[in-house]
Amino acid sequence: MSKQTQTVGATGETTNPFEMVQQRIDTICKRGNIPEAARLRIRECQRELTVHFPVRMDDGEIKVFTGYRVQHSDIRGPAKGGIRFHPDVNLDETKALATWMSLKTAVVNIPYGGAKGSVICNPKTMSLGELERLTRRYTNEISLIIGPERDIPAPDVGTNPQVMAWVMDTYSMTKGYSILGVVTGKPLSIGGSKGRGEATGRGCMLVAKMGAKHLGINFKGATVAVQGFGNVGSVSAMLLAREGCKIIAVSDTKGGIYNPKGLDVEAVIRHKKETGSVVGFKDTKTITHAELLALECDMLVPAALEGEIRADNVSSIKAKMIVEGANGPTTPEADKILFKNGQFVIPDILANAGGVVVSYFEWVQGLQSFFWSEEEVNCKLEVVMNSAFNEILEASQRDKTDMRDAAYLVAIKRIEDAMTIRGLYP
Ligand code: GLU
Repeated sequence: MSKQTQTVGATGETTNPFEMVQQRIDTICKRGNIPEAARLRIRECQRELTVHFPVRMDDGEIKVFTGYRVQHSDIRGPAKGGIRFHPDVNLDETKALATWMSLKTAVVNIPYGGAKGSVICNPKTMSLGELERLTRRYTNEISLIIGPERDIPAPDVGTNPQVMAWVMDTYSMTKGYSILGVVTGKPLSIGGSKGRGEATGRGCMLVAKMGAKHLGINFKGATVAVQGFGNVGSVSAMLLAREGCKIIAVSDTKGGIYNPKGLDVEAVIRHKKETGSVVGFKDTKTITHAELLALECDMLVPAALEGEIRADNVSSIKAKMIVEGANGPTTPEADKILFKNGQFVIPDILANAGGVVVSYFEWVQGLQSFFWSEEEVNCKLEVVMNSAFNEILEASQRDKTDMRDAAYLVAIKRIEDAMTIRGLYP
């Protein structure tokens, strides 16, 4: 069965992320009395481009890769969202990720729509030269629809500032001059923003702090398990540890490590750099992904991929608070159970919005050719994250819903408002 139509679990819930996001949009629109025409528009993506393109591999062989760039909406501003390089991506996943970007930019109220790009490939097995050629050719294929005023890519799973530098360079070559604003998450030397690399993790830490305060959890000493140790998971763990939280477990694709006394996160990051995994770090017990999810702790930070918390494993989760560093880690069925159990979920479109907020700051700094200090970036990020958290918390208390439904309703109302005020063309 293809990943696109797969279902799991006794409840037969779908794991197709685009179906999941559409179902939720339908439910929220109904509950929020959103006009039917707006619901029909928001549940679809405005533009979907599929590209198949050749890349010369190091051994001389020419391989054909498939990629996508999906623009969910540009109703509130240019479409915005990362580029994912992963062997399992597909069109529906990319459409879901693009939709979440529109909702995310609306939740934190920055003047963007939503988009996402992806290429089916395994960057872990490719050489730097192969990655560069793949990135440049993919950029060329999607340059039909991207641009600093229309659709601005950024890093996501499997891509990084170097990849963004190649995107910027390739796009600029075809135009004949350097266009910094075509992409964010760039290296500092070519118009990147201070604080962008850590921004998603910093955003997670900031909302976790707000969540802990709301729940009356003592943040200093709060126990945390982090699933996924890429850019989001590792930085969240590091910043939470710096705030005094006790990180008792982390994991990556190779497995998890656990020490109830707490991990030295910066040493774990170094260990992963040297050995390729967190597994094997000194004084830890190796645990499975299922064991990590089931740990007794105050906070769980899922920071890997979609669909990790499902109806079939949600009951094992004991954490009081779940801070979604990843996009779409929790299925709708699992969500209902968490809400019923009184577990507080800070949803992805709020919890991991720090990345796109600092992407916005990077784009603004680039347009002004005036760059801010790291302190200024971090301060401004904190203001945005705190006010978005308070707004969603208030909405959830007013409507007696969970934080996700509240965040969706706030976002959908903002998108609908922009649609109404712009009117319909022609
Ligand atoms: N890929 C990140 C996300 O999912 C960042 C997107 C951006 O900065 O445009 O939010």
